[in-house]
Amino acid sequence: MTKPSSQTPGNAKRKAVGIDLGTTFSALCHVDENGRTQIIPNAESERITPSVILFDGSTAVVGSAAKQNAVAEPEKIVDFVKREMGKSKAEFSREFGGKFWSAEELSALILRKLKQDGEKFLGAPITDAVITVPAYFSDVERSATMHAGQLAGFEVLQILNEPTAAALAYGIDQHSGNETVFVFDLGGGTFDVTIMKIAEHHIQMLGSNGDHRLGGKDWDDVIVNWVSEEFDRQFNENPLLDLHSYQDLYNRALTAKIQLSSRNSATVVHSYAGHSLKLELTREEFEHRCRHLLEKAKSICEIAMAEAGLEWNHIDRVLLTGGMTRMPSVREMIRKMSGRPIAEDISPDEAVAMGAALQATLVLLEREDDSGERNISAQTRGKLSSAEGTLVKVTNITTHTLGVVLWDDQQVEEYVFPMLKKSTPIPAEVKNSFGTAKANMKNVLVRVVEGESTVPAECTPLGLCNVELPPFLPKGSPVELTYRYDENQVLEVRVDAFGKQSVVKISRNLGLNETEMETATADLMRICVE
Ligand code: AMP
Repeated sequence: MTKPSSQTPGNAKRKAVGIDLGTTFSALCHVDENGRTQIIPNAESERITPSVILFDGSTAVVGSAAKQNAVAEPEKIVDFVKREMGKSKAEFSREFGGKFWSAEELSALILRKLKQDGEKFLGAPITDAVITVPAYFSDVERSATMHAGQLAGFEVLQILNEPTAAALAYGIDQHSGNETVFVFDLGGGTFDVTIMKIAEHHIQMLGSNGDHRLGGKDWDDVIVNWVSEEFDRQFNENPLLDLHSYQDLYNRALTAKIQLSSRNSATVVHSYAGHSLKLELTREEFEHRCRHLLEKAKSICEIAMAEAGLEWNHIDRVLLTGGMTRMPSVREMIRKMSGRPIAEDISPDEAVAMGAALQATLVLLEREDDSGERNISAQTRGKLSSAEGTLVKVTNITTHTLGVVLWDDQQVEEYVFPMLKKSTPIPAEVKNSFGTAKANMKNVLVRVVEGESTVPAECTPLGLCNVELPPFLPKGSPVELTYRYDENQVLEVRVDAFGKQSVVKISRNLGLNETEMETATADLMRICVE
């Protein structure tokens, strides 16, 4: 997403990786000399790293060791950070060691752990990364993820949609012909569906929808709430009031949920305030209690298909990613709803990181084409090119509408005019001409928003673009507005009026500004990550 700075080394010294920065787990992958994707294990020899942080003095322990301590020291733990991405410090922060940590900074600690362990494994510095996000992430959430990568010391080559990454991994590694695939990605905290068309050297996104507050945690919470209600009923005590008890119950619920994917029943035992409760949960009962969650997921799939103007018989295969797609009821719902075959040969935990690594390599190959350098192996280039030698191309679409706030003709009410509609292939450029709202306006202040509503208050403000006007213009004088959206989903807004021009790259106003980035980098350097 950023151009290399003058200090960054040439491709010869670059090592790029793909990172799936997940709500519950994260994974790191690279492309080896032979063009094969390889998951890089962490220092604990695990292929995926729990996205959990434990603050211990000036050390941040990331991964399984942190997760295991969650019950003993819940007050020192941070998890599910991804659900908070894009929030300002006023909206979300956690205090440790006298400092308030934003979601970006916390994510940067997870990314630093991956980078550190990866460098140890590869025996060389890792310079660049493609980091994945749910397709449904907004502009603000994407830029928070990019900032997190930069804070961790990466040059962030691109922020890539998770389903696009999964389709890329599938398209390059397993597949040879034209196929339309439906990517169903249900992770620990987010849900995303995307329809992709895979041709020999072109992967194209056709439609997308999702809910970034729907994920495995909601299924876990069903069990947690059921046990706590039963506890309350029998002993008149609420086990959720105590943080240790909650964390313990949460872990037991998670274990039961995973057991129910392979067994017909699971036992949950919980002790609190001198009482102990043992409950038996059958798969049938669990599925019944969670049916509203599956219904929600199903309707999001149907909306995505309708928005793309497709019927299920247009889909050749369904790709499943995210740990929750191991749950039999999830698979069953997809099978019944789509009637289409499921690709069984991709790993739901690893496909996204693999696709991100392939995309990172593609970006470096494109740079080699621009510079004429050749450092990446011919085998790798061949793997990522068509028979004619053209590099694989990935086309994404906008996942939200980008609009401008205007006054209605009577100047009574403001409304949102959609400039770039949802599902427009990117890069895209659109131009529209508007009239000034009043006579003798001194300037035009364009308010850029993101969202599907026509009501400004229901959309997310992205930024402002201001242009001064010459004096004494009549009402309705023409002002030209251009929105340009590039491959990295960075929006540039241009206002042209009477020879004057104002151009702004929408710098997302909720994330960290430059000074905050510098302070955050310095703070992060003081912390030791394990
Ligand atoms: P992800 O964010 O893709 O790593 O997804 C992790 C989510 O998948 C968490 O909510 C896990 O509890 C859940 N998960 C992992 N394995 C299973 C399984 N076998 N059955 C049910 N849920 C699982």
